[in-house]
Amino acid sequence: MAYCRNGAGPDKDEIRTLPQEARDLILQWDSLLLQNDLLYHKYCHPDGATKHLQLVLPGKLRRQYVERLHADLGHFGETKTCEALARRAYFPRWRQIVKMVVCTCTVSNKSQRGRQALKQTPLRPMREFRPMAVLHADLVAPIPAGSNCKG
Ligand SMILES: [Zn+2]
Repeated sequence: MAYCRNGAGPDKDEIRTLPQEARDLILQWDSLLLQNDLLYHKYCHPDGATKHLQLVLPGKLRRQYVERLHADLGHFGETKTCEALARRAYFPRWRQIVKMVVCTCTVSNKSQRGRQALKQTPLRPMREFRPMAVLHADLVAPIPAGSNCKG
């Protein structure tokens, strides 16, 4: 981020001294942009049609942000959570974080078990074909006037 402020990237010797995380970002140097003191990543879809800015999230906020996003979406799966994140934010190895959050989400895991439990037992065909073997009746005799029907 400091490099973006200076407007020039670090040289090769400097890059070697940086943490992996910063090196990953510097590989995207041409796609980075500093706006209102926030670091953005210029997202460009391979088809060239989609272009927007993704906020580059600081390390400590990433997992929390993905968890929140995943929950706000209504506990979508990994693919949809990835798509939603790509529309908003960027950070190195973001797919791995999304995968981890979705896999460890207790709400998602619970609802998946619930869905399996709700599976219907299949209807069984009736095996009785003799006439009058199965008789359904909805018969209601005239209801006698009760004592409380008089007025
Ligand atoms: Zn979930």
